[in-house]
Amino acid sequence: MKHYSVAIDGPAGAGKSTIAKRLARELGYYYVDTGAIYRTLGYFFHLVGIGPKDIDGITRLIDECVIEIVYDDEDGSQHMFLNEVDVTEDIRSPEMSKIASDISAHKLVRDTLLEMQRDMARKHNVIMDGRDIGSVVLPRADVKIFLTASPEVRAQRRMEELKAKGNTKETFAKVLKEINDRDYNDSHRAVAPLKQTKNHILVDTSEMTVDEVIETLKKLVLEKCEA
Ligand code: C5P
Repeated sequence: MKHYSVAIDGPAGAGKSTIAKRLARELGYYYVDTGAIYRTLGYFFHLVGIGPKDIDGITRLIDECVIEIVYDDEDGSQHMFLNEVDVTEDIRSPEMSKIASDISAHKLVRDTLLEMQRDMARKHNVIMDGRDIGSVVLPRADVKIFLTASPEVRAQRRMEELKAKGNTKETFAKVLKEINDRDYNDSHRAVAPLKQTKNHILVDTSEMTVDEVIETLKKLVLEKCEA
């Protein structure tokens, strides 16, 4: 049976997860947040005291990190399990964002996590978001979207997200710097950098509402995939 796959790539804070999650729900597809997989691996190394740039330490212990994706039966949300413990909330801090970005630059890490992502797409219709989904993970995805927005708009959205979670410590300038640093890190690394391929469709959400983005993407997906 043919399974459809939709790749949504783009920089941090472009709205990928909000959009992909809702689109998946409306179309009855699985939503795969691949950033959460890198975050979980980063969290493992953080817990065992190995820095994200320490490739010798990572090489030594990577086989001890068992990651599973489990979908909630009721609301379909993605939960991340690290060695059988639910770490879904623990991996969302700004510190984990930075660790995930650093750790994801290693070829060993990317190769290790690649099959897990491809396997999801072999078994289900998926909306998968990340940085290299259309370029490396699923180069034959039915639809490839490159979702972006200006760094300032993305920083503002991140501030609102943090505020909604009760985190009022961060300043706009700090969040903007983190976004710019992460953009640089993610698009300048040697292995699988963030990039728009020639068959990614560019959608700039700076001036769009979530509903407008959903409608645009839904149309693009329904042109290529059955609902
Ligand atoms: O998407 P999210 O912000 O959760 O991703 C955290 C980090 O994981 C990103 O900054 C990026 O470095 C890395 N990542 C990646 N490839 C993906 C998804 C995320 O390198 N497919």
